[in-house]
Amino acid sequence: MSAPILRSIGKTRMGCHAGHRPVALALAASLLFLLLPGCSTEPEKASSQIFAMDTVMSLTIYGTNSGSDSAQAALEAATSKIYLLQDQWSATDQSSEIYTLNHAGGAWTALSDSTVSLLTQALDLCAKTDGALDITAYPAVSAWGFPTGEYRIPAPEELEHLVSLIDYTAVEVDPQTSQGRLPDGMGMDLGAVAKGYTGDLLAQMMQTRGIQSALLDLGQSSIQAIGAKPDGSPWRVGIQDPDGDSYLGVLEISDLAIGTSGGYQRFFEQDGQRYWHILDPSTAAPARSGLTSVTVVSPSGVLCDGLSTALFVMGLEKGADFWRAHAELNFDVIFISDDGSISITAGLKDAFSLAQDDASREVTVLT
Ligand code: AMP
Ligand code: MG
Repeated sequence: MSAPILRSIGKTRMGCHAGHRPVALALAASLLFLLLPGCSTEPEKASSQIFAMDTVMSLTIYGTNSGSDSAQAALEAATSKIYLLQDQWSATDQSSEIYTLNHAGGAWTALSDSTVSLLTQALDLCAKTDGALDITAYPAVSAWGFPTGEYRIPAPEELEHLVSLIDYTAVEVDPQTSQGRLPDGMGMDLGAVAKGYTGDLLAQMMQTRGIQSALLDLGQSSIQAIGAKPDGSPWRVGIQDPDGDSYLGVLEISDLAIGTSGGYQRFFEQDGQRYWHILDPSTAAPARSGLTSVTVVSPSGVLCDGLSTALFVMGLEKGADFWRAHAELNFDVIFISDDGSISITAGLKDAFSLAQDDASREVTVLT
């Protein structure tokens, strides 16, 4: 069983309503913490919203009010870093490192240090999750039309072929020469891990700059909390109800990352059936594991992001077993099933509380 990783705090109940999906949800998620009452001794606050990595990001940083260590300077540095990483990791931008790697015909291509580091960590998570996370799912992701929005349902024979193209073990990364390659015809996409790792890099940047309090909301799926709020209380982050427009609960965290994967975040519908962007690598089709959302909490953003995707694919039973078997990874999970029930791992018992509207929901604590 994982040790509790969150500070113990009293339960607080609150409800909050989001607007229309998907952008409004991201904006509302960030508003949740911005609307909380401030403190008269607050240091300078710098905040902004940007569109990057295909989502709306909301950055809030507290710091001093002058000089190169100021909150404003940190915000500008963080924003530049996000755009730089986006340019390196986009699967669709022809000048990105990942696009170049995907179109190199099997040849070695040069990678920057941050890409080598992300790929190394992502491949490690692919192996640990036994391929539930597989960064080479990209040909299948493309065949369903997710990168372009030109959605379609591939025929069974096509799906069979796509499954044969998914194999993270074929990806090679050479940290000595900072190069990578993958077989011709395969393709990779870092969409399942990039935002979480961006959060890790930004947390390091904030630490170097002496920033002790920040909440970096990198879109619907990844949040990085640096320190606590300026008044010392934990950050309060709303957990989206996958079946509605409101929050079903609140997580209170300090100095931790959160990653959420959900079928509601990106999907299309055809003939009454919903098809979402998280694919099961063993079928090359949307993962139907009985879950509608998975939230992972841990000190590592890349772990939260990668595992939320992988546990969504695994489903509740396998996902809970994975959590029990990997105490060394130091993470906790909120599983939301398609019947609306919630299962949380023991470390979140004190940090998670239901929203008032949802107070009657069933919450099971996994041990
Ligand atoms: P996330 O929102 O973090 O769960 O990541 C989902 C994104 O990762 C999708 O939009 C795809 O680009 C990609 N993806 C989908 N399924 C998988 C999978 N099983 N493993 C790795 N990446 C995936
Ligand atoms: Mg992910």
